[in-house]
Amino acid sequence: MALLQIAEPGQSAAPHERKIGIGIDLGTTNSLVSVVQSGEAKTIVDENGQHLLPSVVRYLPDAVQVGSLATAAAVKDPQNTIVSVKRFMGRSVQDVISTWNELPYEFENQSGNPIFKTAQGAKNPVQISSDILKALKDRAEAALNDDITGAVITVPAYFDDAQRQSTKDAAQLAGLTVLRLLNEPTAAAIAYGLDSKENTDDKQGSIAVFDLGGGTFDVSILTLNKGVFEVLATAGDTALGGDDFDLAIVKDIVERLSLSEKDSKAHHRALMDAAKQIKEHLSDNDSFEKQLALGDKTHAYSLTKKQFDALIDALVEKTIKTCKRALKDAKLNIDDISEVVMVGGSTRVPLVRQKVGAFFQSDPLTSIDPDKVVAIGAGIQADILVGNKPESDMLLLDVLPLSLGIETMGGLVEKIIPRNTTIPVAKAQEFTTFKDGQTAMMVHVLQGERELVEHCRSLAKFDLTDIPPMAAGAAHIRVTFQVDADGLLSVTAMEKSSGQQAHIEVKPSYGLEEAEILDMLSSSMANAQEDMQTRMLKEQQVEAQRVLEGMQSALKADGDELLSKDERAAIDFSLQQLEKLMQSDDTQAIKSQIEKVDAISQAFAARRMDKSIREALSGQSVSDL
Ligand code: ADP
Ligand code: MG
Repeated sequence: MALLQIAEPGQSAAPHERKIGIGIDLGTTNSLVSVVQSGEAKTIVDENGQHLLPSVVRYLPDAVQVGSLATAAAVKDPQNTIVSVKRFMGRSVQDVISTWNELPYEFENQSGNPIFKTAQGAKNPVQISSDILKALKDRAEAALNDDITGAVITVPAYFDDAQRQSTKDAAQLAGLTVLRLLNEPTAAAIAYGLDSKENTDDKQGSIAVFDLGGGTFDVSILTLNKGVFEVLATAGDTALGGDDFDLAIVKDIVERLSLSEKDSKAHHRALMDAAKQIKEHLSDNDSFEKQLALGDKTHAYSLTKKQFDALIDALVEKTIKTCKRALKDAKLNIDDISEVVMVGGSTRVPLVRQKVGAFFQSDPLTSIDPDKVVAIGAGIQADILVGNKPESDMLLLDVLPLSLGIETMGGLVEKIIPRNTTIPVAKAQEFTTFKDGQTAMMVHVLQGERELVEHCRSLAKFDLTDIPPMAAGAAHIRVTFQVDADGLLSVTAMEKSSGQQAHIEVKPSYGLEEAEILDMLSSSMANAQEDMQTRMLKEQQVEAQRVLEGMQSALKADGDELLSKDERAAIDFSLQQLEKLMQSDDTQAIKSQIEKVDAISQAFAARRMDKSIREALSGQSVSDL
């Protein structure tokens, strides 16, 4: 007989109160919100039936417009209408200016955190993003007629600490509880249910997520391991997307219609819009033929799919090259990829699908709308995180895009966590003091692949103080790096004998462009040999300095007592030589001089040892031993 469920007094008779978790794809161009209802994740439409909310915010003196209303004003009121605010998150004005030619905005200052001057006063990127998030939250609350428990918000896999933190801050400001930040490619894989594919297939396949949007391209390699998603590698291009396809068509129009430079400049916007239409038309048709109206003239123009493919071939090839690099970073072969997920509007272009399929030797997954797939994955994840699917214990892991380390003597970087390590992660390494009686040390946290501090990116500096005075090399200082699931880094340094410790949370003020990450990686490869040589030289210089200081303090203590005049002179001479050589860049010469100093001072070291044993023993009888 089945049990009958009855309600306790004061409790609802409903079997359980459903909590609402929403998924948000906070995009550069468009944003979406989704929710799971009746077991299925769906994007939520606005009152006009639109799924996409253009990520555009316009500030009027007494109102804020978000979405298509704001988009419509972008041309006539550019200064108060902020587009692509995502590019500013966790970045400085200079960071963005350097990658964006003409910014129509006015900033409070030309350096540091971008503060936009608007009709509603100063607005920073966190506030502007929060207005977008708020619009999505309002949309969801209206549609569901309920409060939102929390949200999963997606971010690019390469977003750094500052960019992730800014995204969280924006959500908080919008009154949203962030259940977690989720990498966009991981969300797309979840949307296709690839997280539950594992059991049915004992040969574990990896997943490539190919995301080609309007202005950016990202490829990520994920793997599913015992129910856990890991991002093995990411690569991309922050300046490659559908806009470049449009531009290729515009160039073709200008060339074939022999438009003057003046005309093509004057009608650039109209040409770009026409090109976009032609491109999108060719995704479903074999040719395009139409009269183009430019100013007061019309021109006949036609383009076949074949011609279009030729125009964009080099651009698509570029994305394939990036896929190769991501695979290499992930240390995988093409056969290891069992699924390819397509994300972003530009993956509707047939040539893109063809080339991606041919490269990975697998039919890409395209059944879910490439505009919605990230939001849908976020919605599924949010539903799990609010506890609506208690049987699911899916955990999602991401990777660090660049190595993290600290500065050591000689301006060298010691890597603590190598790049592409999956997070969350904690790693510790021990360091020691360089000088006798040293009571403080600076911990300088760096990001990057190069060997020298000056070639890496400084994230933070802090001091560990009150180290008990000890001989050089005697202290044990444990430095722990911890990166949480959202990619935020905290560093702790602790002197082990005293337990003295210092700590910092690294939320660097500004992030890195992905292009910069790629730059840092390629320059580390290009300079690998030179860097290694510099590193060896610096290490020898540091060692020479250590030997010199150690010998000088030993000579000061016992030189007069334990050494003859000649012996003293010989040691002094070898030290002078070392001091001279130390400044040179002759690694080998420094090394052999250190060996000479060692050899020549061996007798002195032995006598010092004897002396200290004698001193230790004096006052003790042999029977004490
Ligand atoms: P983003 O990620 O940059 O916000 P989206 O993923 O929304 O961009 O993709 C926008 C791009 O997709 C635009 O360049 C648009 O022209 C292109 N696009 C949309 N639909 C199609 C289509 N049917 N065929 C080709 N390109 C398309
Ligand atoms: Mg996108």
